[in-house]
Amino acid sequence: QAATTDEKTYQIATDITFAPFEFQETNGEYVGIDIDLLNAIAEDQGFKVEIKPLGFNAAVQALESKQVDGVIAGMSITDERKNKFDFSDPYFDSGVVMAVKEGNDEIKEYKDLKGKKVAVKTGTEGASFATSIKDKYGFKIVTFDDSANMYDDVKTGNSTAVFDDYPVLAYGANQGNGLELVTEKESGGSYGFAVSKGQNPELIQQFNEGLSNLKESGEYDKILDTYLSAPK
Ligand code: GLN
Repeated sequence: QAATTDEKTYQIATDITFAPFEFQETNGEYVGIDIDLLNAIAEDQGFKVEIKPLGFNAAVQALESKQVDGVIAGMSITDERKNKFDFSDPYFDSGVVMAVKEGNDEIKEYKDLKGKKVAVKTGTEGASFATSIKDKYGFKIVTFDDSANMYDDVKTGNSTAVFDDYPVLAYGANQGNGLELVTEKESGGSYGFAVSKGQNPELIQQFNEGLSNLKESGEYDKILDTYLSAPK
């Protein structure tokens, strides 16, 4: 390991509430699969990170305007985003799913959304997917900046459903957040760590090397297990 004093510190933006990938502990500390992976990779590769929980869309915008060095936020690798960003190797498979308030048996498929409101988070794959089918199924879209407010809108009954990432909604439902998954997941991108196109290529390389080392050492599985296999 390099001496601490020569280690470069990178500013990394993330979402504010996207468990199990990033969320705040009661003591204010940010934890989750993304945060733990990034910290472990930074330690393995000898760099430092400063985590900036900005919210998903704000994080992506901050990266685009080069106010931060990278984004780790359950950010899906998509062809459109590859025009603006360079991504690491994928580190987690995702996909979009629909959820409703627990116990709502009226909504079983997309066509049941006719005339209803659907909550999405600005700038996400879930928002793009909902937008792509809204005219076909005749529903309206309500946008939010973070998942917590979006889920609350469904729980209070203003929105009938929410489209968000499968691993996040499944984790939340499993934790008893008051929502239940309805549909099979739509295929979606895998998560990757992003930098601005052509910027910080060394950081992407270090991320990939660190990720591969963590997979080899078993640390990657250990981090995932911490969040995904705990009995509820
Ligand atoms: N995976 C989704 C996307 O990249 C959502 C990410 C998020 O809400 N943090 O659009």
